[in-house]
Amino acid sequence: MANRLVEKLRSFMPGNGKKTVRRYQRQEIPRDQHTVSRSMISEQARKVLHRLNKSGYEAYLVGGGVRDILLGGQPKDFDIATDATPEEVHELFRNSRLIGRRFRIVHVVFGREVIEVTTFRGNARDTEEEVADDEHRTSEHGLLLRDNVYGNMEDDALRRDFTINALYYCIRNFTIIDYANGVQDLNNRQIRLIGDPETRYREDPVRMLRAIRFAAKLGFDIEPETEAPIGKLAPLLSHIPSARLFDEVLKLFSAGYGEATYDLLRHYDLLEPLFPETAKAIEAGEPDELIRQALRNTDARIAQGKSVTPYFLFAAMLWPALQAEWNRRQDNGDPVQPALHGAIGKVIGRQVQATSIPKRFSGPMKEIWELQIRLPRRQGKRAFGTLMHPRFRAAYDFLLVRESAGEIEPGLGQWWTEFQQVDERAQEKMLTEVGSATAPRKRRRKRSPVKRPPQA
Ligand code: ATP
Ligand code: MG
Repeated sequence: MANRLVEKLRSFMPGNGKKTVRRYQRQEIPRDQHTVSRSMISEQARKVLHRLNKSGYEAYLVGGGVRDILLGGQPKDFDIATDATPEEVHELFRNSRLIGRRFRIVHVVFGREVIEVTTFRGNARDTEEEVADDEHRTSEHGLLLRDNVYGNMEDDALRRDFTINALYYCIRNFTIIDYANGVQDLNNRQIRLIGDPETRYREDPVRMLRAIRFAAKLGFDIEPETEAPIGKLAPLLSHIPSARLFDEVLKLFSAGYGEATYDLLRHYDLLEPLFPETAKAIEAGEPDELIRQALRNTDARIAQGKSVTPYFLFAAMLWPALQAEWNRRQDNGDPVQPALHGAIGKVIGRQVQATSIPKRFSGPMKEIWELQIRLPRRQGKRAFGTLMHPRFRAAYDFLLVRESAGEIEPGLGQWWTEFQQVDERAQEKMLTEVGSATAPRKRRRKRSPVKRPPQA
């Protein structure tokens, strides 16, 4: 079996002989040599494994579920790989849904917990000669257009992305099956692609983002060969559907290591394909302190078990782009408000070419931005109107982030904090004190000496 495996690997690594062919050998790690115990696997995942096994199918826990337990962490979710077809799995579980067009997978749903069950799949290149029809075409860039080819367990392991994600746990005999030296890489804290890195990134450029996500989350290094092609291949992400990139961005920034992830994205030139306008603005000197501060806050919230809203995240990630465009328009003579509206339209219009932003998020994101010019204007009854705005809370949080990023003079955030806490009489008093006092000024960096027309 091992020989067949080596042969297969050779065949899907380009440039046989030229590149170092990594030899993988199937290893079984018995119960007394690893730390995965049944009690760490959710009851629902165990149920699915047992039912599949009892019905005569092979079924293993795979991916993050095994990886994170081995690292002493709590898996985010449990993925199961099986030799049962999606239809067979669906038959077995009344509480299941067949999903996916590109590749059919089954979600077995237990209230809020969803167990993802996938049928063993083959790597397209691996099975090239065996498949008569065109089930695994690649595009001119090497992108896998379809990969709905079933395979056996070895095939399934080798088409996975990283060695640490290709570990299988068998609930029948409690062994871990390791096809690609994943345990060794776990011990060495390394992210390593299975197979030839460039080929694997070309097949699916999202793997570059996944490498960054796991490196940030696990605090692992990306092994040199896996790391080398990333910068060069980063532009391939523009071939990925914008909806998938939107999902990946959320995963990148909601795993609790947003700031580290951001640093890695910048380091590997991956911010550009995800947020082209932001990358351009930062390159041109726009500060990114607000992004960092927002991600730091997000990370702290996640650590406390709180949720993060995608529109807040996107409002922060696009802020440098918005600033650049807003300033540009004002420099061209547009008054503050129309300049802001124009900039919002432009920045969102450009962004959705990279990642989609569903309407339910882009609406609130715009409101957060628009409220930034209403928050300083508190005179008369305005403050009450702002306070009643459905997006007040998010806009206020955003204001606090801007303050701690040093973007505006401190004070306004504290004012709003108090205004929310005191009774109506004290609120009226606060408002008379505001009187006609000028709003805290935005700290504006010195820009090119463009002459500003007087503002209305
Ligand atoms: P987590 O769920 O904690 O984010 P995970 O490793 O479980 O991490 P999933 O996105 O749930 O990641 O995917 C489950 C498994 O499917 C992965 O561990 C990996 O083996 C495989 N996989 C996912 N995406 C890809 C991909 N783009 N290319 C190859 N294999 C993938
Ligand atoms: Mg998972």
